[in-house]
Amino acid sequence: MDQASSEGVETRRRVRARVDGTVQGVGYRPFVYRLAQELGVAGWVLNDERGVLVEAEGDPAVLQAFVARLSADAPPLAEVSAVESEEIDATGEDSFEIVSSVRGGAPTAPITPDSATCDECLAELADPGDRRYRYPFLNCTNCGPRFTIVTGIPYDRPQTTMAGFAMCAACEAEYENPLDRRFHAQPIACPVCGPQARLLERDGKPVEGVQDALRTAADDLLAGKILAVKGLGGYHLACRADDEQAVSALRLRKRREDRPFALLVRDVAAARELVELTYTEEALLMSRERPIVLSRRRPDAPVAESVAPRAPDLGLMTPYTPLHQLLADDTGVPLVMTSGNLSDEPIAFDDADALERLGRIADRLLVHNRPIATRTDDSVVRVVRDRPLLMRRSRGYVPAAVGLPVTCIAPIIGTGAEQKNAFCIAAGDSAWVSHHIGDIKNYETLTSLQEGIVHFERLLEVAPVLVAHDLHPDYLSTHVAEKREEAGGVALTAVQHHHAHLAATLAEHGETGLAVGAIFDGTGYGTDGTIWGGEFLVGGLVDFQRVGHLQPVRMPGGERAVREPWRMACSWFTAMYDQLAAAEAQFPAAFADIAQERWNMVSTLVKHGTGSPYTSSAGRLFDAVAAICGVRLEVSYEGQAAVEFEALAEPGGAKPYAFRIDTGDVARSSPVPASAGRNPLILDPRPVIIAVLADLAAGVPVGAISARFHAGVAHSTAQVVALIAREAKLDTAVLSGGVFQNRLLLELTVPALEAEGLRVLVPERLPPNDGQIAYGQVAVAAARHGV
Ligand SMILES: [Zn+2]
Ligand SMILES: [Zn+2]
Ligand SMILES: [Zn+2]
Repeated sequence: MDQASSEGVETRRRVRARVDGTVQGVGYRPFVYRLAQELGVAGWVLNDERGVLVEAEGDPAVLQAFVARLSADAPPLAEVSAVESEEIDATGEDSFEIVSSVRGGAPTAPITPDSATCDECLAELADPGDRRYRYPFLNCTNCGPRFTIVTGIPYDRPQTTMAGFAMCAACEAEYENPLDRRFHAQPIACPVCGPQARLLERDGKPVEGVQDALRTAADDLLAGKILAVKGLGGYHLACRADDEQAVSALRLRKRREDRPFALLVRDVAAARELVELTYTEEALLMSRERPIVLSRRRPDAPVAESVAPRAPDLGLMTPYTPLHQLLADDTGVPLVMTSGNLSDEPIAFDDADALERLGRIADRLLVHNRPIATRTDDSVVRVVRDRPLLMRRSRGYVPAAVGLPVTCIAPIIGTGAEQKNAFCIAAGDSAWVSHHIGDIKNYETLTSLQEGIVHFERLLEVAPVLVAHDLHPDYLSTHVAEKREEAGGVALTAVQHHHAHLAATLAEHGETGLAVGAIFDGTGYGTDGTIWGGEFLVGGLVDFQRVGHLQPVRMPGGERAVREPWRMACSWFTAMYDQLAAAEAQFPAAFADIAQERWNMVSTLVKHGTGSPYTSSAGRLFDAVAAICGVRLEVSYEGQAAVEFEALAEPGGAKPYAFRIDTGDVARSSPVPASAGRNPLILDPRPVIIAVLADLAAGVPVGAISARFHAGVAHSTAQVVALIAREAKLDTAVLSGGVFQNRLLLELTVPALEAEGLRVLVPERLPPNDGQIAYGQVAVAAARHGV
């Protein structure tokens, strides 16, 4: 290095490098600083609204190495998407500096997701000699809270919920030292100056005589108490998972009838005692995103019966904050760690609200005084065909940008669906899909959608001019869009629900061409005003054609049929009256608990159609068949019957039930998509229902029937998609919609399509359920209004 500087200014060169990607709040500037020190390069580095800008001056060969290492050696949380460098005039600068953030320019600098505690911080947490020993809020530039504490950008401490904590001298020294792991770590904290944990009685008074809130909380848990625990994105309710009394008490108090509880385990070794883990599942469990991973439970898993009644999987996560790590280590047992709410309410994240709502459920509350800026639920993932399939994309993933294959000419909002709502904001060729908002029929959740949009607009500093929304006129997310339009300054564009599913899947894979989509979900509003949900579409980002669908049937009593799957069975039986010879087949043993008068009443609804719209929903077909098999007559959450029916399926190959396929005009007219007036292809399950009844009458076990049904849906779907693809001369198939959260169905359908020579696209970065709708809406809007 000395040699380089002694050669004089004329042999020195200077470059300006623009670094794009996730490079703010991840220790990128200190990394550049250390790199410059190491190589003896002069210049500066700064954060701006787009990302990171570097100027470097020195020996040409050294500069080349410096620029190469800007991406090659980037710190763990950084994701460098591009480094563009150009040569500029040397200035003779002789030192390297980190320049403070500048404002102005285009708003494309990404905010980073929260990240699990890094190994170095974990080592400090466990080291009695370290000044942060057992400190529940330690973090560094490589880990810790981000999105959940951010209130604005650029990402600096005053723009986080750490703004109220003044750094002590020791922390400040680390914060200011470019060679320290905590250089400019915005949430830097220690026991002297940072947030503190406290243990409260359920009335909000501090528990007396507590030395170490975490240790006492762990003792409470071990003694069978239920604790509300303030975490990263909200409150959890916790108790030990092997204590049936505690778990069933929690279930009762929370009024969460059957939905499985997630568990916190200290590490992968502890996870292996409960579930069978594949390599991919292990990697997800230990990923910095730390989602809840659904894996096959061991038959001898030592957890209470009430943790996940009848579920073949357990949802596990490992600690993602030091606080959770301490609880897991101090108790040494698996803990139930479920969202802090009553059934169907949003998870609590505001302290006063948590005390009010959770004080009635929990025995005590483990709280802290670092505010949560944005309520962020745990993410949930399951592994299918060795790929992650997200069921809920939230903490750890949000707000990482998802790319768009088309460029927005101006910023766009997608307001999403009504259930499993997430919204999306897009600018340029990036889309930011929000945290999980939930079911916005709930007033608080609707408010959090509206507030969330405002928060994202502020973080991204964008002023959207186009709002994409669902075609359903009554969705509250549609009303949010309309209110926006009334306030002025934006135009609206409506996107059909299943088109949004198709477009979202295409867009996340970078596709702009046409594909054949099999979109199976619960319900979505169709262009004909009926309820769709078992759809075969040919389309791309801009538009689509409904080429085929499941045979429509009445949904008796509308939404009530979602909660009472036996109604869908009754609907099919009523519609098939002529085909069901035996009188007893109309009212099989499974329905013994349904009074004859109720059955007749619902059957009358079907005949007259009163308050009973037609639906082609695949989710409702799964409900009907599960009900016929006696799996579930009523459910406490949507899709429960299908989940339990899937769980029962006997492993191994099963002879598929045969659907009737009426090809309509698909095989007769070309090309597809054809003009309006064409008869759609109909996938008719009536022969399947007759076969199921015959198998039941013959005493075939429900597990075998489930396997044959799943195989039948997969087989006929592949047949239909392949037929449409041939006629339309397309080679790409898309599978999406909430029904494809069904692992067995996806595992059977994908290879069946591949055997037909088709390339199959399945959602990977976003969930196949309505969590992908807003992104799909944005992709459609961008494509329709693109240049
Ligand atoms: Zn760390
Ligand atoms: Zn400190
Ligand atoms: Zn949907």
